[in-house]
Amino acid sequence: MSEAKQIKCIECRGIMSPSVMSLQLERGDMVLIFEDVPCFECSSCGQQEIPGAIAEEISTLAEYFVKANQTIKDMPVSIGRINIDLEPQATLTSALS
Ligand SMILES: [Zn+2]
Repeated sequence: MSEAKQIKCIECRGIMSPSVMSLQLERGDMVLIFEDVPCFECSSCGQQEIPGAIAEEISTLAEYFVKANQTIKDMPVSIGRINIDLEPQATLTSALS
């Protein structure tokens, strides 16, 4: 039986629990909104933290999305609403290993 790793909040040292959040990224004229991004949330102060592996994945998705939309010249501002289709618990677990 293995004990789950506990993530401590960097602000208050409270316990971080798996959660999801929305993330807004600006890339040039584009605003990308990621929904249901797996993250950890502090049960005490509400601080949210995205594990590095997931942040990298989001960054890759953002670059892909920006490139795909660069051909649309008549649309100076695009809003991309991207649902991260991942199982939060599983993703967080693999991000920690
Ligand atoms: Zn906290």
